[in-house]
Amino acid sequence: MRKILTLGVFLFSAFISVFTFSAEAEAGQYIRYSSYQGMRYVYLRDVGAYYGMKLQLAAKTCDIRSQYSNATFTYNRREGRINGIKVNFMFPSVVSGNEPMISEYDFLLLLDPILRNSVVKHKVGVIVIDPGHGGKDNGAQGRFYKEKDLNLMMAKRLKEILSAKGYMALLTRDRDMFLDLDTRPAKASAYKADLFISIHCNSAGNGASPINGVETFCLTPEGAPSTADAKAKTARKERGNAFNKNNILLGYCVQRGVLRNTGANDRGVKEARFSILKDAPCPAILVETGFLSNLTEERNLATRAYQDKIAQGIAEGVIAYHRSMSRK
Ligand SMILES: [Zn+2]
Repeated sequence: MRKILTLGVFLFSAFISVFTFSAEAEAGQYIRYSSYQGMRYVYLRDVGAYYGMKLQLAAKTCDIRSQYSNATFTYNRREGRINGIKVNFMFPSVVSGNEPMISEYDFLLLLDPILRNSVVKHKVGVIVIDPGHGGKDNGAQGRFYKEKDLNLMMAKRLKEILSAKGYMALLTRDRDMFLDLDTRPAKASAYKADLFISIHCNSAGNGASPINGVETFCLTPEGAPSTADAKAKTARKERGNAFNKNNILLGYCVQRGVLRNTGANDRGVKEARFSILKDAPCPAILVETGFLSNLTEERNLATRAYQDKIAQGIAEGVIAYHRSMSRK
């Protein structure tokens, strides 16, 4: 507790000259906010109360929790968890006078879509699946396998599963062929996609690496920094930014589905400005299913059984997302 207090005193100067306002949220609950480094931050205690969740403080983290859900924040960092799944908040949480605060961006564009399904409701009929790379572009190279081939196998399996569930599932490529990055979202447009899911395998450094696990990317909202680069902010609004809230909910549902089915290491839901996500005509995500630079994970990703788990997990995520369309 001592640490928090010191931090609180330190940060207090950042707040002292700022008048604190109150905003009335939908449920008639007041969520106080304040300005920090030129941005609006909201009181986590009030955000918790808004969801019927209680604030709990620990040495390095704090969380809001109810019997149904919980969210954890790390002081001065962007890492957190929502119901056990790792998420990367856009801005660090801060503490002012022992009161944790989170950015309004993270409240409205990350926490709220996931905890309250506050997304744009739309039909989910056509799902375009994009196996990354192909043809002259091998993608990541494992010891024995090329990323482009594994991506295609998983994409085909996902198409089968989603088709069996009654969705119209289409692939951007159904064989080993080169597609440039513009063509992929353009195909999603041409097919009138309701969701766009790009499938990839990861790689870390040259040669074998212990790094392993699954991560799912959504387009970084305009005005926020990407996960890998806290400084890279841009206010430019891309086509895919029309679906900010839906993107994060889809990414969260799919990351959770894949982890449940594979038991893989959770590397989290992340934000990036990948071109296929920027140009997407509908809610879109990119799933990094595992590392070809990790010997065990490469071996797993090359088996039918593991590919099936990945595909089942993504499909479960899509179905969970679809269900949330009809939930208030
Ligand atoms: Zn790739």
